[in-house]
Amino acid sequence: MEGRITEAALVLPALYLMSLHDGKIGTSDLIKELTDIMHPRGEDVQILDNRRDTRFSQIVRNLKSHNTFNRNGFADYEDGCFQITKAGQEHLEANREVLNYLLDNNFSYKDITDSFVKIETTKKQKKIEVFDEEAWINEGGKKETKTARYDRSARLRDYAREKFTIDGQICCTCCRFNFNKFYGQELGRDYIEIHHIKPIFKYEDEDMEKTLKEALKNLVPLCSNCHSMIHRNRKEPLDVETLKEIIENTSMKNTIPIANPII
Ligand SMILES: [Zn+2]
Ligand SMILES: [Zn+2]
Repeated sequence: MEGRITEAALVLPALYLMSLHDGKIGTSDLIKELTDIMHPRGEDVQILDNRRDTRFSQIVRNLKSHNTFNRNGFADYEDGCFQITKAGQEHLEANREVLNYLLDNNFSYKDITDSFVKIETTKKQKKIEVFDEEAWINEGGKKETKTARYDRSARLRDYAREKFTIDGQICCTCCRFNFNKFYGQELGRDYIEIHHIKPIFKYEDEDMEKTLKEALKNLVPLCSNCHSMIHRNRKEPLDVETLKEIIENTSMKNTIPIANPII
């Protein structure tokens, strides 16, 4: 079952929303805006028995009733509003890159919330490095301003390309499209997009090679069409296996009129 968010998963996103509103935000606005940026699903959007609340909004309310922010010193609660403290601002700034990465890359709700919990429960606040899919799916996609981030992503992309090449060819996992065969060696050579199923983190003192090996499990080579279809719903990417099934079922149907043309 999807869902079942915990308070820890809301700490960074809530601090982010406070900072967007000059440092403070009321509970009902916080519920609304957290819903907008996190897209809760599954059990978390079901209405609780005997209440008008969803589980998600109940957990947001718990931030106040459990004094979550007072305990970690990241925010105070006064006059119906959460107010970010200096420590909260520092926590937010230290993790801003990873926050943007998690909210901008269309990961599933579960992967986003699990990652936020992981950040809050990592004992010593170590610097977290991220791998941004948008920064490396296209060869020329160097729209990132942060070079270090681009370099990490480029290393992962090169590593993935090498691993996904079989007999000198890389095919789309979903439809088996091959750029090299279709567009020819000169134009299509080595082209593929890499889809990124789960968030990939690396703590600063962790071994890069180990991270790359681990990260590879979350990467899928795709053609541009399949990649677009997977991300067509911006809030929740389609599962790779689901797209494969859709393609199989649909292309089977589509072959009928070709086999039996009705004129
Ligand atoms: Zn494809
Ligand atoms: Zn993708």
